[in-house]
Amino acid sequence: MRWSQLHIPTLREDPAEAEAASHRLLVRAGFIRQLMAGHYSMLPLGIKVRTKIIAIIREEMNAIGAQEFLLPCMHPAEIWERSGRLGHVDVMFRLKDRKGADMVLGFTHEEIFTTVAEELSSYRELPQFWYHFQTKFRDEPRPKSGLLRVREFTMKDSYSFDLDEAGLDKSFDAHRAAYERIFARLGIPAIAVEASNGTMGGKDSLEFMCPSEAGEDLVATCSNCDYAANLERATSALPAVGDEPGPAAPARLETPGVRTIEDLAAGYGLAADRQIKTLVQVMNGQPTLVLLRGDHQLQDQKLIDATGVSEIRPAHPDEIQAALGALPGSLGAVGVTDLPVIADLALRGRRDMATGANTDDVHLTGVDVDRDIEVGTWADLREVTAGEPCPRCGTPLQLIRAIECGHIFKLGRRFTTAFGVTVLGPDGSPIVPIMGSYGIGVERAMAVIAEMYHDDAGLAWPVQVAPAEVTVIPLSPRDNAVVTTAESIYADLRAARTDVVIDDRDERPGVKFKDAELTGIPVRVAVGSRDLVDGLVEVARRSTGEKERVPVDQAVKRVTEMLAAAERS
Ligand SMILES: [Zn+2]
Repeated sequence: MRWSQLHIPTLREDPAEAEAASHRLLVRAGFIRQLMAGHYSMLPLGIKVRTKIIAIIREEMNAIGAQEFLLPCMHPAEIWERSGRLGHVDVMFRLKDRKGADMVLGFTHEEIFTTVAEELSSYRELPQFWYHFQTKFRDEPRPKSGLLRVREFTMKDSYSFDLDEAGLDKSFDAHRAAYERIFARLGIPAIAVEASNGTMGGKDSLEFMCPSEAGEDLVATCSNCDYAANLERATSALPAVGDEPGPAAPARLETPGVRTIEDLAAGYGLAADRQIKTLVQVMNGQPTLVLLRGDHQLQDQKLIDATGVSEIRPAHPDEIQAALGALPGSLGAVGVTDLPVIADLALRGRRDMATGANTDDVHLTGVDVDRDIEVGTWADLREVTAGEPCPRCGTPLQLIRAIECGHIFKLGRRFTTAFGVTVLGPDGSPIVPIMGSYGIGVERAMAVIAEMYHDDAGLAWPVQVAPAEVTVIPLSPRDNAVVTTAESIYADLRAARTDVVIDDRDERPGVKFKDAELTGIPVRVAVGSRDLVDGLVEVARRSTGEKERVPVDQAVKRVTEMLAAAERS
């Protein structure tokens, strides 16, 4: 590659509105350009990195026996109707063709791969691992942060088809191991954390999370054992509370003006952990009481996961008044039999508690949860906070920001059942295969690597995904000896099959050095008139800043050694 012929539009200034380092630097170093919010054009250097990321993922997928497909990104809406997801996914892009037929731009491919699975016929064919690299479209409400949250991106998604749960366990473990190798090779320090399945259903769900301040997720981690979970799933070992038995029945307590847990605690000596917090949530149109300990917060995704209800919102005051006869501040579940009640596990067995009486300015004390409240569903609903004890070992948990880089989960038979996929078992009876689903966002991986590997001067790619491995820089393009030496080193590096670029532009050395640092090419060979008098060139490593002068005829050997060492580290 000759720099003079490449389109690498580097910028001297950071782009406005770019906050995440990856966004700022990928634009500034000429890797990507925004077309509109959430949609990016990938320029030649971006394509080089993307291609290398894809190659690593492909190698590891093929290594576990996965087969590559390519399924369309535009689908007939009818297929999504069959799975029951049409109209229930707010990020889905929909359109009509010229005949007025309803179409969908895929945000994932469970349905489409399942249509292909309709032609599986015998248990002998299973397991199958199928994958593709395909564009996904997601109508994100707030696309931002460059490639981290976009509306159009490439995903490697794979799907496994197995005869039974034991087979799925094996397929899941094979993918988990492949993902660990992929992220290690990409240089992404991802940790596998327990996750929610979101709208997909199924069980056993792991996200691969890369700790980063640019992340939008919070992960609870333990510094002592390997416990790690997305905040949407995290639990902790709360200390047991020993309650007094309390009175034989709840007692009324006049509480004029009390509206909050804090008011009741401060004014009446009823500590927050001795109170029951009553929230009214409208779930698929049904007002529902959600109970938590007074000092605990509801984690919305846990409520969704516990109930399978996707449409949940807090009730409006008039809805609350109609349902319970009181306004927020005096709500409670004692004696409520006509509304569903879901309670957090931390309330189980609690006695002598305080809660609202469903009469404004009145509370009840001496409430025994098991005796006085008709709880329909017990579930883990509360959000863990930093410092609570790890559920496995008791060490205080930490909460860290992280970027989701991959997600693998056991999908179950939802799609194979919906599409009528069966294979004949050993005894000739039909078996519905069980599926797993596994995804990695390619451009997001690129952004995460940029987040991990950069400094004030620019990007600093790991060798295995770098846009080029080496740049050869003739410092004085009008000095014949310099140009001849640089060209000969360039030719030798090409012959040695390194991915090399020569910066043959008629520019000052400072411009070339700056661009080499900004674009993050791992190794630089500078050929200057003064060193050349002594028969030397300068070889420098981008990530460490190490520089050394080596004889011209040793340059190629030294560069290849450096690349090999960098790739191993
Ligand atoms: Zn622990």
